[in-house]
Amino acid sequence: MKECPARVLLIGAAGRMGKTISDLADGDPKIEIIGRCDLGDSIEPSMQNCDVVIDFSQADAITEICRVALKHHKPLVIGTTGQSREQHRIIEETAQSLPIVFASNFSIGVNVLFWLTRKAAEQLGSDFETEIVETHHKMKKDAPSGTAKTLAEVLKAAKKTQPEIPIQSIREGDVVGEHTVIFNGPAERFELSHRAASREIFARGALRAAKWIIGRPPGLYSMQDVLGL
Ligand code: NAD
Repeated sequence: MKECPARVLLIGAAGRMGKTISDLADGDPKIEIIGRCDLGDSIEPSMQNCDVVIDFSQADAITEICRVALKHHKPLVIGTTGQSREQHRIIEETAQSLPIVFASNFSIGVNVLFWLTRKAAEQLGSDFETEIVETHHKMKKDAPSGTAKTLAEVLKAAKKTQPEIPIQSIREGDVVGEHTVIFNGPAERFELSHRAASREIFARGALRAAKWIIGRPPGLYSMQDVLGL
């Protein structure tokens, strides 16, 4: 029997990521975008008819998204970054009742970078000081990037001896996203780098997460959960 496509409400649909997700979804028989909302649109009508919500908009949209998703009991895939502490708390509270995938970076390569960073930090130990350099296009609103913050958390958890990880943020041209983790040791230097060539890598991961999260129990899931890393 033919499987029904997952019905998606896309929030931030007119943005760079929204358009990339729409384009990719057009060629995916397992996805149907049934609602496209942007700034000023009411999300409730489409929320009622969807199986899952994908949010790539702006951090302050999250309060309304969580309120309406809770009302209609819909799973969320949150790609938007730059949330405040209070906005993070709202996401965590909502995840007690709904399944949510919240990831600062939906690329498979970057999620492997998170994994490798943890492994390298554990092996290299306290002799190595770490730092992060990230570069993005000039239009990016938040700095440091959500991905750089996640990398810093991974390093802090693995390297108890370095409580603060310096992050250098560069904004230039139309760079999609570059992240380098540097390990500076006695007489040697070790780097792990990821360069995104196109926004499609994030869109591909977000659509994969949307299909994965439908039917899961409530909880806050990462992209590493989706990939089984
Ligand atoms: P963008 O500025 O091109 O698009 C954002 C869109 O959201 C705009 O069309 C804007 O009008 C709309 N918007 C703003 N407030 C809204 C609201 N309250 N309700 C509905 N729509 C609203 O930005 P972008 O490059 O597409 O990125 C969007 C977000 O996704 C950013 O936070 C960015 O950092 C993040 N991002 C995450 C990943 C990831 O893998 N997690 C990858 C790329 C970008």
